[in-house]
Amino acid sequence: LFGYVGIEAVLDQMRIKTMKTGFEFNLMVVGQSGLGKSTMVNTLFKSKVSQKPTGPDYEERIPKTVQLQSVTHVIEEKGVKMKLTVTDTPGFGDQINNENWLRPLDLEFMRRLSKIVNVVPVIAKADTLTLEERAEFKKRIQKDLKAHGISVYPQEDFDDNSDDRILNNKIRDKIPFAVVGADKEHQVNGKRVLGRKTKWGIIEVENPAHCEFPLLRDLLIRSHLQDLKDITHNVHYESYRVQRLNESNL
Ligand code: GDP
Ligand code: MG
Repeated sequence: LFGYVGIEAVLDQMRIKTMKTGFEFNLMVVGQSGLGKSTMVNTLFKSKVSQKPTGPDYEERIPKTVQLQSVTHVIEEKGVKMKLTVTDTPGFGDQINNENWLRPLDLEFMRRLSKIVNVVPVIAKADTLTLEERAEFKKRIQKDLKAHGISVYPQEDFDDNSDDRILNNKIRDKIPFAVVGADKEHQVNGKRVLGRKTKWGIIEVENPAHCEFPLLRDLLIRSHLQDLKDITHNVHYESYRVQRLNESNL
């Protein structure tokens, strides 16, 4: 009996527990007002869920966000449930224009934020930029983040092994994702797709040739979901806990 580890039984129990309780995942969207945060929250849900959100204050038309507001959905994929909670926030630093995105306020905000949570920066409203502008903007942001020692997700320090590093390097090359949000559907080749109508045609948010929303969604709620949670728990929460303990011992 002592030699028997029963790993199969343990795995079965874990599978059953996950099926029953599902995963939980919390996301918060921050940035200046008018950037497209609320639209992005809706895009994320609409791209995954068919039924309507059931928050008490939920409205089809997006109102200006005046307070923290969380919406929770249960998403199901291949029989596994996930409880996804997204918190929408009012804008901060509304006096700011897009011209010089990484002003001291943004940098300071991201620097502090990146120490307590996983930060995934995005370029919003990418449909308003040409492909060249997107690439240039992206390079500039990558350079600024590096220059100011801001470590965004996936952090190089936490790559587990060389395979991890190769995969995460590919993601790091793409960060910040240039995303487009939309909560309206359009008819494209006989199919209904989420998108924005522009002079040049429909920008489809879920088409990887049109924008990087699919990359963002897959990273957040598919490929890196567990890793995001692990780093939050093992690194961010742990350092927060230690800090609070030290404070209370002063
Ligand atoms: P929030 O203040 O950051 O929550 O921004 P909202 O989601 O309320 O959006 C502000 C405005 O920008 C609305 O008119 C949206 O329709 C528009 N908008 C949102 N996302 C996009 C986008 O990806 N591209 C473009 N062109 N407009 C967007
Ligand atoms: Mg809003």
